[in-house]
Amino acid sequence: MASVFTKIINREIPSKIVYEDDLVIAFHDIDPVAPVHILIVPKKEIPTVNDVTEADELALGRLFTVAARIAREHNIAESGYRLIVNCNKDGGQEVFHVHMHLLGGERIGPIRVRSK
Ligand code: AMP
Repeated sequence: MASVFTKIINREIPSKIVYEDDLVIAFHDIDPVAPVHILIVPKKEIPTVNDVTEADELALGRLFTVAARIAREHNIAESGYRLIVNCNKDGGQEVFHVHMHLLGGERIGPIRVRSK
């Protein structure tokens, strides 16, 4: 079954798209946890980082160039931002279609590896 992000790519469900090219798409997260929370997604439906191959390097590299571009467009390039890719249960992955979170617009706290 197609992932929710493939459905967004195919315009089967709505989203607020901010960027699209031949390899990736970017849209606002539906449940933002920061003033800027955008997901950058390869159009190829790769379930997790464990499934990545060399053939995906161009598309996955593009996630970074698009992240930098979107950060500039949202005026958070200089103030800074965090890029996150979750993998499987311990990583907190909920949507099994590889994606990068771009978070910014406020000071994001330190990464806590252990929840206390
Ligand atoms: P992750 O935990 O890394 O798999 O993150 C999945 C993200 O996808 C979450 O931050 C969700 O809020 C977001 N999300 C789920 N469904 C949608 C949707 N239809 N449109 C935009 N973002 C979504």
